[in-house]
Amino acid sequence: MKREVLMGLSGGVLLYLFLQGLNPLPVLLMIGLLYLLYETGGLKVIRKQIGGNTAKGSLCKVTFQAIGGQATAKKELIEALEFMRAGDKAAALGIRPLKGILLAGPPGTGKTLLAKAAATYTDATFLAAPGSEFIEMYAGVGAQRVRSLFQRAREAARKEGRFNAVIFIDEIDVLGGKRGQYQGHMEYDQTLNQLLTEMDGIKNDDGTRILVIAATNREDMLDPALLRPGRFDRLVRVELPDQEGRLQILKLHTANKPLAPDVNLSRIARETFGFSGAHLESLANEAAILALREGKREIEERHFLEAVDKVSLGEKLDRRPQEDELWRVAVHEVGHAVVSESFRPGSVAALTITSRGQALGYMRQVPEDDYYLYTETYLRGQLRILLAGMAAEETILGNRSTGVQGDLEQAINTAKRMIGAGMSSLGVVSLPDLPDSDLQGAIRDILNEEKAEAVRLIREKHELVMRIAQELMSRERLNGDELRAFLESESGALGSSRATGKDEAAGVLAL
Ligand code: ATP
Repeated sequence: MKREVLMGLSGGVLLYLFLQGLNPLPVLLMIGLLYLLYETGGLKVIRKQIGGNTAKGSLCKVTFQAIGGQATAKKELIEALEFMRAGDKAAALGIRPLKGILLAGPPGTGKTLLAKAAATYTDATFLAAPGSEFIEMYAGVGAQRVRSLFQRAREAARKEGRFNAVIFIDEIDVLGGKRGQYQGHMEYDQTLNQLLTEMDGIKNDDGTRILVIAATNREDMLDPALLRPGRFDRLVRVELPDQEGRLQILKLHTANKPLAPDVNLSRIARETFGFSGAHLESLANEAAILALREGKREIEERHFLEAVDKVSLGEKLDRRPQEDELWRVAVHEVGHAVVSESFRPGSVAALTITSRGQALGYMRQVPEDDYYLYTETYLRGQLRILLAGMAAEETILGNRSTGVQGDLEQAINTAKRMIGAGMSSLGVVSLPDLPDSDLQGAIRDILNEEKAEAVRLIREKHELVMRIAQELMSRERLNGDELRAFLESESGALGSSRATGKDEAAGVLAL
């Protein structure tokens, strides 16, 4: 529409010049040039070069309701934002304005979403800029960009008729790392100094109240000056969601998707220990893609379960190992699975010999719940499960392969944790002061004990392990229930060890 009006106007001007006997050619050229710049976005580029970075003011639509879980983070953030909402009342009491909030936590946990929701909650203009945008090779550019960002926040808020503006700086550690650590590179220090200056300059009686929200997953890297009172003095931790949080996030991300009646989101939430919000969003999306590939109108539970494997381990690979290698992988994974079921019945979610990401095959466990403390019984059980792949290779194939290396590394770490917690024959020790030979000896003792137990279990179930491995070879994937049907077909097969460890069940093991 704008374009039509402009063309009409230009035509009128040209006609007028012509009637007045003036040469319309230079004006014609000018109009042509401006039109070209407009069409190719050239004007925008020119404006951006001057402005420095791409952050722009926007009306935020994300609300706290659109963020699943994160109850503590949301509560802390809302409490902090009440100051901004109180506005003049807070100023009348002489409360200094809240200038900065630092959101710290692992990637994909919703820090950007929280910052956007904070802007909506305080009816603020929202500007976002990643920390990396301030870092340029040229001295002074970063500092100039920081200045321009604050300036534009004020302008954008004024234009939108708002009192508040939220500036969101993602990956603040890039720009706010400890000063002096980049030797010979004063640019980082200047940029950080400028940010501190701008934040110090925020006052109650400013026309626009600016709140800077920064996000990082490397809080330890930040310059202490940033965390000083009056700057980023509110620290809100954004953790990986717990089971309830995962369920809420899954509900949010499946709200627009047709789910088959067999889909149990609580079960999927239980199986996705360690997943971030971003992982869960991707999981819901991947499940829908799998359903689409199969021409289904609804997403079924199995699509979600396959998507869990894909999100945690990567895309299926075309690479297919040799038959004898596949047989080894099958024996190895069945070893893990059989021992896992003996330690904690119902714990196996799936096992497969399909290559995904770095893994040739894997066995996935279902955690019973999110636990934060592990008992010795639990840790020993996990060690037995970790070493069961190796035990199965040795018992059934007569030797072990390099495939056990990953399991061994995890097992050694678990053993070290046990030694540090005083759970070894050494008793209570200080890990850093423990001579290396003693540490290695204690690790070996623990691993040998648990491996012996794994070997005993595999020997006892030799025939069964072979049968399940053959089934796995032909079907490539067995889910937990299919595996348990096999195990139960062997009467009383695992009865003796069923009672162990049920109370201490916890966590997930990626093998
Ligand atoms: P990074 O540290 O990598 O920048 P982040 O913590 O800022 O990540 P976001 O960008 O907020 O994470 O989240 C990425 C995506 O993951 C979101 O767009 C959303 O789809 C999903 N997501 C993450 N956390 C949640 C949550 N708590 N509720 C709903 N969706 C979430």
